[in-house]
Amino acid sequence: MPAGGIHRSVCHFCDTLHESAPLEEGMAARCQRCGAVLYQNRSASLVRVTAFSTAALILMVVVNAFPFLVMDAASIRTSLNLISAARALIDQGSPILGVALALFTLISPIAMASGLIYVCGPLMFGRAAPGAAVVAKWLSKTEPWNMVEVFLLGVLVSLLKLAKVADVHFGMGFWAFGVLMLCMAAAMAGIDRDELWDRLEVAKSS
Ligand SMILES: [Zn+2]
Repeated sequence: MPAGGIHRSVCHFCDTLHESAPLEEGMAARCQRCGAVLYQNRSASLVRVTAFSTAALILMVVVNAFPFLVMDAASIRTSLNLISAARALIDQGSPILGVALALFTLISPIAMASGLIYVCGPLMFGRAAPGAAVVAKWLSKTEPWNMVEVFLLGVLVSLLKLAKVADVHFGMGFWAFGVLMLCMAAAMAGIDRDELWDRLEVAKSS
């Protein structure tokens, strides 16, 4: 066993305790009593998570470089990106919605993608970054909030449509954000919580 001590995993179904060992790519460790999967090393999962997270960060630059919404009113064309949309909501008396929009569409995806790269990048080489376990725990806690940004976008778009003061089109930034959300979903789906946890345990001990 590694010098760092023996690592154990408990079967989620029958509570049998096992000693964990590093797995080959594409293999799964199964419970000796009931055969349930304890943890697995999905092929190229870390590469996939890191790649999708990196793509999401690049798309975030595109999202903010191009207009998100374009409004035509009385022959005046106004372009809004996510930041100016949030600011407009705050200025026009919806500060909570404005702050929530910035938090969930800008800050949270950047933090999530960066966190995933920080945890999964070094793990590709069998290393755990300092504090990786804390970051992984935080990432798994924020996972249920992923759908909030979809909801918020819906609110924003319907508010603008309801206002009927302008002809509203979606800009390049909107479509880039759609692809960004797909990338984040793919990154989060690429690795499961237990798998990440077990990999961090094994990396720490070696
Ligand atoms: Zn079992």
